[in-house]
Order: sequence, then C-alpha cells, then structure tokens
Amino acid sequence: MELVSSNPKQKSVSESQWLDWKWQIQNRIKEEAELEEYIHLSSEEREALHSCAEVFSFSTTPYYLGLADPKDPNCPIRLQVIPRKEELHVRPWDRRDPLAEESHMPVKGVTHRYPDRALWYLSHVCAVYCRFCTRKRKVSQSFGTPGLEDWNDALEYFRNHSEIKEVILSGGDPLNLSDSKLDYLLGELKAIPHINQVRIHSRYPVTLPMRINSELCTVLRKHYPVYLITHFNHPKELTPLVKERIEMLAKEGAVTVLNQAVLLKGINNSVETLTELFYGLTKIGIKPHYLHQCDEVFGSSHFRVPIEEGVEIMKQIRGRISGLSVPLYVVDLTGGGGKVPLPANYLEETKSSSYVFRNYKGDLYEIGF
Ligand code: SF4
Repeated sequence: MELVSSNPKQKSVSESQWLDWKWQIQNRIKEEAELEEYIHLSSEEREALHSCAEVFSFSTTPYYLGLADPKDPNCPIRLQVIPRKEELHVRPWDRRDPLAEESHMPVKGVTHRYPDRALWYLSHVCAVYCRFCTRKRKVSQSFGTPGLEDWNDALEYFRNHSEIKEVILSGGDPLNLSDSKLDYLLGELKAIPHINQVRIHSRYPVTLPMRINSELCTVLRKHYPVYLITHFNHPKELTPLVKERIEMLAKEGAVTVLNQAVLLKGINNSVETLTELFYGLTKIGIKPHYLHQCDEVFGSSHFRVPIEEGVEIMKQIRGRISGLSVPLYVVDLTGGGGKVPLPANYLEETKSSSYVFRNYKGDLYEIGF
C-alpha cells in the first residue's frame, strides 16, 4: 500500500511505527517548535498558537499534519487544525454549549434530550483538536473525563429507561478507548433488550485511520450491527490509507459507515469541493449522511457560511450528482432544539389542479395532482 505523506517525520520512522495508532497518539504535535519541523508557519498562525492556547488546546497527529500543504496557510487541512486569532472573537450568538448538552445530563457523561436517543461521552481526548469543535468547552481537558464508576451509572441509566432505543458513543473520540474497553461497553449495551441500535461517532477514520485495524474490526464484528458515523470535510482527507481501512471496517468489521461533514468557510463551501468529497466518500463505501451548518460555538464564527449560501450550494449539487451521494443539509438548533433540515425550495406555484416546479437548471415543470 502506498503511504501518502509529505511529512518529514515519516521518513525517520519505520512503516510499522507510522501505521501504529498508538505511536501516532504518543507522537502528536502540540508545540510550535514541533510544528515548524513540518510546515512553514505564517506569523499569524504562530501568534495564534500562543494566544489561543488557553481557550482550546492544539494537537494533531503526524499523519493528519502530513496531509497539509507546508507552504499554504489557507490549506484546508491547516485551517481545520491550526488556531487562528478569530477564535478569540466571541459573537453575540456564540455559546459555550450551543446544543445545551450539559443541561440535559441525567448522569455524568450522558445527554438524554430526545426520548429515544442518548449521547454518551466516553472520552475528552481526540487525536486532533478541530478548531470548530462543538464541545471545545470540555474536549481536550483532562478533568471531568468519565471513569469506570460513571460508565456503570450510565449503563444503569440506559437499563432503567426503556424509551431509549439508540445509544450514540461520542466524546472526544470514543475510539480513543482500548479495544477491550470498547468490547465491554458494546457488550453491555447490546445486552439491554430495548436498545435497538448502537452508533459510534468518531473522527479517527479521518485523522488517525490506522486506529482501524484487525483487532478493532474483530470487536466491532462481534457486536454486529454497529453503525459508525465519521466526519470527513474535504477530499484531501480521502487518502489511500483511508480507503484501505474503510474497506477493512466494512469487510472485517461488518460496520456500516456514514459521514457527517460540516460546512466550513474557506474549507469546503463550494460546489466543486463538496461534489468531489461526496463522490469520493461514496466511491470508498461511505454514505454521505448529513452536511451540518457549523454550530454556534464560541470562537467559530469565522467558519460559518450563511445558510442561504449553503442551500444554494446543495441545490446545485443535487442537480449534478447521484442522490446516493447527496447528504441532507441540516442545522442543529442552538439551545437544544434539535436538527432541522435546510432543503432548497423547488415549488414555484400551487395552482387549483397542478403544481409548478423549477428544477436545478432553472427550467419550469408543471405536474397535476
Ligand atoms: S474529533 Fe470531534 S470531538 Fe474531537 S476535536 Fe474534532 S470535532 Fe471535537
């Protein structure tokens, strides 16, 4: 398999180290001096690394940084992981907890907001800290990470609430846990008769694809069916290693993989980029599921795209590519109101016995009822 990386560090480690997810975690880049070994930082990036450090940690795997353009500060990988001074700007609509996850927390580490679903935060750690993270109020901070006692309280809560049909393992990144812990937690969840499905939300297929290995796939297959939702935002992230490990997830792990992208200004807010991303995902066996409007989390307004622009981009995409590759554009309402679809309006006029539609090309079609 071809290893894709312009990363100088890759040349100084063996292939087996490079493909070892624990090596990637242990060798995460967290400091300016280490970062400078890989890319030429702009003065703005260098300044923001220091000024934003207190607000949200910086960290990236060597693998993910290896996808970045060392010379271009506007590279879509760099924009996702390297702080910018705009993160210090807090706008009137920005919130620490935009989805009101903490105020619907019956036991530590569990958000139970919708009757049939519960979100379970298993870790505060991620391989890469995405600058637009909705949970930056707690992700990257070691305090408050749920422990074994909290896990048992959460499992007891799930057992006692028969209205819960789905548990979503989230974080931080739940794949940061060892295979044996995941095996234990999945086993306990699957033993609860009223739990219909278990979903894992992880960005490791993007930022640390070597985490997907045969050992993990054995655990996931054992607890079939498991759904994995990942978060690819740009076609540059679809590397040969990703392709190999997604195939492994499907064939060895029997896992169904879907993608939730975030619409991000300067990173993917164009018809061409998203078309390439959605087709690229489908090609390697990942169903594009949602395109999310960026949440109103503090210090992320520079990433937000106006909703009208997002709707127009999706309208053009829907006309161009197969429906299988088109996700649903949604906004998760600030304050905990839930997801709302953001469809384009194709209905131009309702007549007494017909409807008039305008298609993606602007042509009018009339159908009766
Ligand atoms: S992987 Fe997810 S939880 Fe972790 S920093 Fe990125 S967006 Fe936040």
